This record gives sequence, structure tokens and C-alpha cells, in this order.
Amino acid sequence: MKITVLGSGTSQGVPVIACPCDVCASSDPFDKRLRSSVLIETATTTVVIDAGPDFRQQMLRAGVKKLDAILITHTHKDHIAGLDDVRSFNYLTGKAVVVYARPSDQLEIKQEFSYAFSENPYPGVPEFDLRNLSIDQIQIGDLTIQPVELKHMNLSVFGFRIGDFSYLTDVNFIPKDSMDILKGTQILIIDALRKKAHPSHFNLDQAIDVAQHLEVPQTYFTHISHLMGKHSAIEKELPKNINLAWDGLEIEL
Ligand SMILES: [Zn+2]
Ligand SMILES: [Zn+2]
Repeated sequence: MKITVLGSGTSQGVPVIACPCDVCASSDPFDKRLRSSVLIETATTTVVIDAGPDFRQQMLRAGVKKLDAILITHTHKDHIAGLDDVRSFNYLTGKAVVVYARPSDQLEIKQEFSYAFSENPYPGVPEFDLRNLSIDQIQIGDLTIQPVELKHMNLSVFGFRIGDFSYLTDVNFIPKDSMDILKGTQILIIDALRKKAHPSHFNLDQAIDVAQHLEVPQTYFTHISHLMGKHSAIEKELPKNINLAWDGLEIEL
């Protein structure tokens, strides 16, 4: 299994508006972050977690030519705004793109992209094959995927454990049952928004605590705001085996 970090950033502080801060003005490619998403590939199966506003650019940059499913963690715009661009995959395959989301998230997707679900859609609308996500394991090709319940302030969101890899974005609390599911994870990618506390995301110290509590051999942080500071500076402060993720990071597992 190969994991590629397609984006390790957040809508908070995306350097599209002329932000004068050190991070947004940085020429270091490690400080250039698209919205958080990961690509998971085996020889036969390709899955993406979330499709935010940068989805199209991320698919092009990673050269993704086939997509077996998109898993949706939750429906905040930085995680679903790019769903319209599945139409390229519809065109290539002649099929709807499989999207796994919890039933309440499916309702929100249907509202947000109502033109794709109308009785008489105009030609060329994106085509989705919505499937239910619950706490039950799902099988996509040769990938066995275990959804993991997380809290993003008051919102229930999903993380995912796939073999020895766990991906937990947009989270500030992990229930005990979910911690049990995560035990034994070898590679963890987890939300660490910034140093200062935040009501709906782990900050740096909280994310370090989770990684150390789970005794994960290698952890990467994601959903990183420009308020975190420069990659090169933060890397020096992190404990052993804990790093900031970066766009384009590839992990073989
Ligand atoms: Zn969110
Ligand atoms: Zn987010």
C-alpha cells in the first residue's frame, strides 16, 4: 500500500490571499499546503480521503487516472468542495464515482450539489454513487477500511484505519472505543492545526499527546494552518518519530 499526502493544509490561512506572514510568504515548498487529503493505492485499488477545493489540482499533480472510491470524513467545505470535479472520472470510465459518506453527510452532499441529483439533470453533471459509511468495516477492492468515530467539536466525523495506517483529520476528541481501534497503528496522520488551542481541532501539544499515548512508531501532522509556523522551524521542536506532513509525502506500508 502506498499513501500519498495530497494536501496537509486547511482553509484557514491558505496562501491564495496575499497574507504577509512568514509562512504564506515562504518560498520553501514545505510551506505550500493544499487542503488536507490523502491518496491510498495498491496495485489494483485507488481510494482518496476527502475532496476539498483543491481536489482537481491534487488529482492532476498525483497523476491519478482511476479512482475506486472517495471516502468523506465530514462535509465541511474544505473536505467536499471539489466533488464537482469527479466529472472527469465519470467521463473517463463512463461510470458514477463511488462516494462513501455517513447518511447525514449524504444529505448535505445532495443539497450542496443538488444539480447532480435532480430528476432531469443537464448533460455532463457529476455522477455520484453514494454509499453508506458507518462504524462497520468496508471493503474496497483489496483494501479493508475501518471507519473510526471522532469528535470535531460537536460534529461526529470519521477517521479511518486501513491496515497499519490511520488517518484522523479534523478532530479534537477521540472516544475510548476509537482509541482501542487505533492501537497498533504503525503510521498515523493526525490533525494538528497550530500551537494555540482551538475548539474543534487538536493543537500541536494535544496531537503529540495522542501519538505518544498510542506509541505510534511514526506520526505525521496534517490540517496545518499558517499559524503553526514554518515547517523548518517546527520540525526542530518535534519529538522523535513525529513530523509535520507535507504535500507530496509518500509512505510505503
Ligand atoms: Zn472540519
Ligand atoms: Zn477541515
